Parts: sequence; structure tokens; C-alpha cells
Amino acid sequence: MEKNKPARRDFIKLSALALGGLTVAPLAGIAQKTAKLITIKPTDKKLRIVCVGAHPGDPEFGCGGTMAKYSAAGHEVTFLYLTRGEASDPAKTRAEMAALRTKEAETACKILNASPQFAGQIDGDSILDKEWNEKMTNLIQAAKPDIVFTQWPLDSHPDHQVTGELALTAWVRSGRAFDLYFYEVNTGVETMAFTPTDYVDITAEHEKKKEAMFAHKTQDPVNTYNDYFKPLEEFRGLEAGVKMAEAFIHFKTTNGRAGIIGL
Ligand SMILES: [Zn+2]
Repeated sequence: MEKNKPARRDFIKLSALALGGLTVAPLAGIAQKTAKLITIKPTDKKLRIVCVGAHPGDPEFGCGGTMAKYSAAGHEVTFLYLTRGEASDPAKTRAEMAALRTKEAETACKILNASPQFAGQIDGDSILDKEWNEKMTNLIQAAKPDIVFTQWPLDSHPDHQVTGELALTAWVRSGRAFDLYFYEVNTGVETMAFTPTDYVDITAEHEKKKEAMFAHKTQDPVNTYNDYFKPLEEFRGLEAGVKMAEAFIHFKTTNGRAGIIGL
């Protein structure tokens, strides 16, 4: 029986594990025949979710809707920022910029009911080495996450590349003990070659997400949103069959890998 419906079976399995209480849409293609929104009942377990981003704003713009959904469902959400966005305005000192953007991140986290944490790297000078692999692994492990979201490492911004790689290494070194999802930002300009495996309907959370995005006043949020993120949310929504969606790549554990259809 199950072998006849592999895509649906796989979808339900990972949704129940990682997105308890959320409404998600399955993939297109082979899953098209069963493609519809499925609401999974909330899990009894309170999930700990860590969302890693290079700069203040990356987690909010990339997956603020999904994070709002998690926190509203009673799960614990932490935003772990690799840097404080120190380099984003050459007219200001790094210290001034860090202070401003830290405040903006704290405001955004408050809106999404998430806790901000800063790893201590410097914007534009991100480092991927042995020491930072250890530090980030320790930071992520200390949070005891059930799920980690991070940036897709194929990206035009080196800080985003480093962020994705550091979280990926933390996942491997943690024995793949948590679920790992990659999110996209500014696809077409920053994120590259991103083919989603999972979608989350954020239509209902959209206003809250927007409020969190717009808290990043130094980042020209209205134009950034209208030019890049609004079209992306709507496009992912079209793919998922809803008004607005966020899309993810799920790195599955060896046990959870889907088989090839028909074999
Ligand atoms: Zn960024």
C-alpha cells in the first residue's frame, strides 16, 4: 500500500516530525496527484527551534512567517545571528552599526516571540575555520534543538555561505540528532540553485512577519520587501497552492531518505 504512495507517505512523516501543528503543502511533480494542504495536529512535545542567520534580518526575511507559526503554537524559537550587521553602512562606525542593528533584531524577535542570540562574528569578515566550527557546534548544541533552520550555503554573500556551512557542520558533529532545514533569502540575487523540498503556508502570519521585517529600519525594508521578498513569497505560494509561502530544503537523516519511486 505505502509503496504506491511514496511521496505522500514521506511528506506526512517529515511534517509530523518537524512541523507539528503547522499547515504545510507537499511538493509538486510526483506528489501532484496528492498535492493539497494538510493540517497536522499539534505535537504534545514543546519543540526547541534554532534559526541561524548571518545578519540581523536574515532569519526574519527568510522564514519569519514559519517562526511566527512555531512560536504561536507554543514552541521555543531562538534566532542565532552570526554577526551584528556591523558593516552595512560605511558612514557609521562598526560599533554604531552593531548597536543599531542589535536593537532592530531585538525588536523583531519580540514581535515574533523569539529569543535573540549573537555568535560574535563580524559582518563582512565571517570566518569558516576549525575554531568557529567548534564554537558554533557548541552554541547550537547548548540550545538542545529539535530543529535547526539555516541559510542555504550557495549564495552570493560570503557571510551567508559561512553561516550555512557552520550549521551544516554542527549538524554532522551532533550526530544528525536534529532536523536541518535550509532557508532562502533574496533568491535570484543572493540565494542560488535553491530547489525546495517543503513549503509552509504563511498567509495568516504574513502581517506579523512584515512587522518583524520592517523593524529592520536601517535595511530599507519597504523596498527590500516589495522588490524581492514579496514576489518570492507569492511565487512559493503559487508552487504550494496557497497565497503566500516560505520554502525550505530539508536535509534528511539517513533513516528518513526517500527511496526512488517505483524501486
Ligand atoms: Zn544577510
